[in-house]
Amino acid sequence: MPRKFFVGGNFKMNPRSPEENERLINFFNGSVLDPHTEVVIAPPSLFLIPTLENIRKDVKIAAQNCYFQSDGAYTGEISATQLYNSGIEYVILGHSERRRLFHETSEFVAQKTRAALDCDLNVILCVGETLEEREAGRAQNVVESQLQAIVAITKDPEHWSHIVVAYEPVWAIGTGKIATSAQVQETHVGIRRYLATAVSHDVAESTRIIYGGSVNANNCKGLASQPDVDGFLVGGASLKPEFVDIVNVRV
Ligand code: PEP
Repeated sequence: MPRKFFVGGNFKMNPRSPEENERLINFFNGSVLDPHTEVVIAPPSLFLIPTLENIRKDVKIAAQNCYFQSDGAYTGEISATQLYNSGIEYVILGHSERRRLFHETSEFVAQKTRAALDCDLNVILCVGETLEEREAGRAQNVVESQLQAIVAITKDPEHWSHIVVAYEPVWAIGTGKIATSAQVQETHVGIRRYLATAVSHDVAESTRIIYGGSVNANNCKGLASQPDVDGFLVGGASLKPEFVDIVNVRV
């Protein structure tokens, strides 16, 4: 089965008010979106429910994080169970901002991934190397070791059908520096090759591998034409009208 093109919008800690969030929702609701692309937006947790209640039904909602325990004394956390029971379909895990600023290890990301998969949430799993790691020729190793932590918790094809891998080189996130189409294609092929060896050929072929890092309306076309680029995770541009152009890149 062909892999369905996927475009996610990560709002990060934006926008600043419920009113601004509502304006964004209204903009999406009034836009024409390619029906062949799966569109998922990830507002901050405070705005998840109002977004879910007001967004058009063909756009899905992702949380930007979750905790692995289902409930209990974990002040400030939101569990995968709570997300699922509230109608949220996706969660972003392993984003480089969480790895870097909140010291999340690959093992911790894997624990949360397991919890999300166990309660039927879909996971947008972010992996990617720093500039230093790329310059040292270690990009592929870094990405593989981040993926290995997930492979260690599950090789179940049913679980992997609920994972979208987002390749996000840290040096391209929010910097305006975009990886070239060739760099992205090469890394995505490397990820697929790794999944074929570590999990299975079928999982490697069916898993969607999307790219994130300074994607905008101008640079998305070249990237989208790469055979192993199955979509995008968009940060900054997801708050702007050009997000619609990115969703419609293949129209
Ligand atoms: C992101 O936050 O996942 C991201 C890719 O950000 P940006 O598009 O702003 O680089």
